[in-house]
Amino acid sequence: MASIFTHAFVAYGATTIFDDHPYWRRCLFFSVVLSLLPDADVVGFLIGVPYESPWGHRGATHSIVFSIMMAALVTGVFFRAYFQFKAKLLAVFIILSLSAISHGVLDAFTNGGLGIAFFWPFDNTRYFFNYRPVEVSPIGISGLPRFH
Ligand SMILES: [Zn+2]
Repeated sequence: MASIFTHAFVAYGATTIFDDHPYWRRCLFFSVVLSLLPDADVVGFLIGVPYESPWGHRGATHSIVFSIMMAALVTGVFFRAYFQFKAKLLAVFIILSLSAISHGVLDAFTNGGLGIAFFWPFDNTRYFFNYRPVEVSPIGISGLPRFH
């Protein structure tokens, strides 16, 4: 099931190469945040944004362009100390970008809902992978199985 925990776990794995550096916790934190951020688009359901619109669920916020833009913003604002170390800055940017992009990739393996607008703003087509073994998760944690 592609839940918020799955997305966060992928982001955690991406940052393990930084465990010998004092900034790894910051990178880990923002990797997790960026891996979860795309689902902030569910706010659109509350204010009447149609699911299939570019700003609907799994639309723009799940795209590659949006992911890279958010990674660039976070890198520029929260990793200023790396500006003198271009290779580390680039590594952080790539890790954050991949963490954010991983959200849409995982969602594209799910078996429900609409597909992912990977190529927004150039193309609003929603995509799934042909192999979709992952059970779609309800938004949030309230719908996860309970063991009692
Ligand atoms: Zn999602």
